[in-house]
Amino acid sequence: MKRVNKRKLGKTGLMVGEIGLGGIPIQRTTQEETNKIIDECMERGINFIDTARAYTCSEAYFGHALQGKREAFILCTKSMARSYEAMKKDIELSLSALQTDYIDIYQLHNVKTEQEYAEVMSPNGAYKALLEAKASGKIGYIGITSHNVDFLESIIDVCPFHTIQVPYNVIETKAENLFKRAIRKDIGVIVMKPLAGGAIDNGEVALKFIIKNDFISVAIPGMASINEVKENSKVVKEELNEEDKEYIKKIRRILDNDFCRRCGYCLPCPQGIDIPSCFVYEGYFDRYGLASWAQDRYEKMNHFAGECINCRRCVAKCPYGLDIPTKLKRVKRIFGK
Ligand code: SF4
Ligand code: SF4
Repeated sequence: MKRVNKRKLGKTGLMVGEIGLGGIPIQRTTQEETNKIIDECMERGINFIDTARAYTCSEAYFGHALQGKREAFILCTKSMARSYEAMKKDIELSLSALQTDYIDIYQLHNVKTEQEYAEVMSPNGAYKALLEAKASGKIGYIGITSHNVDFLESIIDVCPFHTIQVPYNVIETKAENLFKRAIRKDIGVIVMKPLAGGAIDNGEVALKFIIKNDFISVAIPGMASINEVKENSKVVKEELNEEDKEYIKKIRRILDNDFCRRCGYCLPCPQGIDIPSCFVYEGYFDRYGLASWAQDRYEKMNHFAGECINCRRCVAKCPYGLDIPTKLKRVKRIFGK
């Protein structure tokens, strides 16, 4: 049986399978299915798991499934906490849910702006709790995740992190320069959204496109069945063939002017709508099969797609020419507001 090849995760020195297990879709499986997924990953050399406090039951399912197998995996989770106290609490909750006394990598989850970064790095910020947890042996390394490539570029030369996690796929290639800069600092590169949140329907080509590049350490497609583990682990590092290139051209034609890259250039909206988050939740609803989780997160926003007044200021700022007001109408239809 083919096993996934390993790469070094930057200065952590950890050797990770170049394909890892993304933990978002675990939320729509069962404990029993998660146990089988973990066993299949072990068989095939997938040894990297990425989950989050925010993924409801995902940490707990993994925690249970990893009993007796914990040492075979590099366990990575994250929290949206921004303050010292909130992060301290979340680290304990993660340790408890994951049923372990040690998490290999703990990440600041989705830091989008320099203001948010200043908050987490302040004397009473979340980073202090991560440093304490590292010093006491509860976590091994500290990482950061973001959908905002520009923001990560602004901190990459001075940040203290061992890993970064960012979207990268055939239709979102903006992070390539960031990756080169990360490698110069020996920061491990974790690629999220390798299938553009499910928008790319050929997983094999999507993963080939990513792992043919030496500047990434691990790509983490979400997997919710053993068949997905089997399929994804078969992908090997090789050049794209003509058929693959044709597929990429086709998918770029289809998605280029329709897929939101979450760059945030369209903001601020005068109505206060968090436009990229609307499209992220739409994707979770539509393509991840996580309707109630997406609805729940959508409900927590301060303003909704239905408040759009069609001023089109955002359209002028979107570098990809997305017809945002029309797309928001669809978001309103699916979430009801
Ligand atoms: S068109 Fe709608 S979403 Fe865009 S800026 Fe105007 S109100 Fe906001
Ligand atoms: S709508 Fe356009 S500008 Fe706004 S986040 Fe998405 S891709 Fe970026």
